Amino acid sequence: MTTADALPPGLVTALRQARYIVALTGAGVSAESGIPTFRDAQTGLWARYNPEDLATPEAFRRNPRLVWEWYAWRRQLVSAAAPNPGHLALARLERLAPRFTLITQNVDGLHQRAGSTSVIELHGNLLRVRCSAEGAVYTTWPDVADPPPPCPACGAPLRPDVVWFGELLPPEALERAWRAATTCDLFLSIGTSGLVEPAASLPRVAYASGATVAVINLDVTDAVEERLFYLHARSGELLPALVSAAFPDADAVTR
Ligand code: NAD
Repeated sequence: MTTADALPPGLVTALRQARYIVALTGAGVSAESGIPTFRDAQTGLWARYNPEDLATPEAFRRNPRLVWEWYAWRRQLVSAAAPNPGHLALARLERLAPRFTLITQNVDGLHQRAGSTSVIELHGNLLRVRCSAEGAVYTTWPDVADPPPPCPACGAPLRPDVVWFGELLPPEALERAWRAATTCDLFLSIGTSGLVEPAASLPRVAYASGATVAVINLDVTDAVEERLFYLHARSGELLPALVSAAFPDADAVTR
């Protein structure tokens, strides 16, 4: 496990010298805020459901109420949660790096709440809903006895504004993410298992385009190769230490 006092010096230097840093985040970044990853055991009421059977268009067609209620439960968890030191370190890195792009697969909005201002949301955001027929997006909706509530314009059921398994990513977000991965000089892949495409390809694309790549999660074993760092670490512990090590002079003013 990489700890705060054993950071690979090559990665600290790469972070300090990078002209363009891109970070891709996944569910692991929010785990320390108490938001379960899909692979964590689900708790309580929802333990018997497999998230991959709920986060699909078929599940919503089969049982819209069940899917709506699962998202309502997740929305509640997110509202009660707070950004953790990992989210805050990424917001700080945005302010310190010459150029920085944050790409997230998370749908919880915690990066924005931590202060990140420019976030590419590849999988949408569960704090928004949209019309399942016409796509109009809403940030408020009525509470109804038999959810999901109807679209105020056409009456079709509202659904969470997220990308479900088997659906296409928003093309503009994907295009921006791809461009960032192919033009950065340092790419950080944080808290993502790299199993969900096309996000999973972004670190490979960045590496193939010449960037240094660091993979930070609890699945990998610590290793350093040419332009490649694997760090088995919790993002809430590692990221603040990494940013402070790379930008020690900025510590006093921007923490
Ligand atoms: P995943 O569940 O497949 O993998 C989580 C990864 O995070 C694993 O590699 C694990 O080792 C790592 N991890 C766990 N705790 C960590 C920590 N404290 N620090 C660093 N790493 C940690 O997640 P995924 O790759 O994001 O893909 C699953 C899909 O589920 C995504 O599409 C995402 O949109 C969705 N999802 C989002 C949220 C959220 O918005 N918070 C939560 C669950 C699932």
